[in-house]
Amino acid sequence: MYVMGVDIGSASSKAVILTAARKMAGQAVVAVGTGSSGPARAVEQCLDAAGISDGELSYVVATGYGRINFPGADKQVSEITCHARGVFSQCPQARTIIDIGGQDSKVITLADNGTVTRFIMNDKCAAGTGRFLEVMARVFEVNVEDMASIAAHATEIVDVSSTCAVFAESEVISRLASGTKTSDIAAGVHQSIARRVAALATRVGIQPEMLITGGVAQNQGIVAALEAELQCNIKVVPFPQLTGALGAALTAYEEVMRQDE
Ligand code: ADP
Repeated sequence: MYVMGVDIGSASSKAVILTAARKMAGQAVVAVGTGSSGPARAVEQCLDAAGISDGELSYVVATGYGRINFPGADKQVSEITCHARGVFSQCPQARTIIDIGGQDSKVITLADNGTVTRFIMNDKCAAGTGRFLEVMARVFEVNVEDMASIAAHATEIVDVSSTCAVFAESEVISRLASGTKTSDIAAGVHQSIARRVAALATRVGIQPEMLITGGVAQNQGIVAALEAELQCNIKVVPFPQLTGALGAALTAYEEVMRQDE
């Protein structure tokens, strides 16, 4: 028996296949999201990785921003539920989850049994999301994956004060033009995102342990900046970009178990 979770975001498409023993048989991340070939490619790559055909899947759950437009799912589940499930299955001590994706950021709190107690989301503005990092990486002419290693060379943190991503881009361009070090500005970009997300976390209320998930959790500079803003330890979930797809696959597994009862 195999089940699949598909997480269709704004920036990327992810898929995870689990076996009857709830072991990961395949996984895939494609760096384009809803409205592109990304979802179909993620499914295909995940099936290839697991060495199975789609006919062998007992149940498919879709999550993420683009889940409604995905034709191949038996059920759609919100990404808040799926991230919570994906994190809690790996880290049962998690009580607060920060999820920073391509176009939104969320803070979720969990009860001792892993159910969601509260969540808060910023999806109105690119500041505080992966999109902001992508815009800045383009200005620096680097890949978004390299932002953390660039910021690691900072000797001071340049304040990026504009709260709008469009104005912040102009601010960064003028800083570069006046000769400010790229690494110092990159550290300021991380701090700017961390401040936004920390404000959300403070509003929802932080309880330890705090974990971070989503594609941006792969940026160690953001994790460190968030720890500095919130004055607490933050653990990165293993394979953070796959957490939503894992939670969706676990939901699919539970559906199959329920049907068999
Ligand atoms: P969504 O689910 O909204 O599509 P993701 O959770 O996949 O978004 O996160 C996408 C964001 O993750 C990108 O905007 C980018 O900023 C960041 N990202 C993706 N890969 C990496 C990486 N290898 N290192 C650092 N950041 C990354």
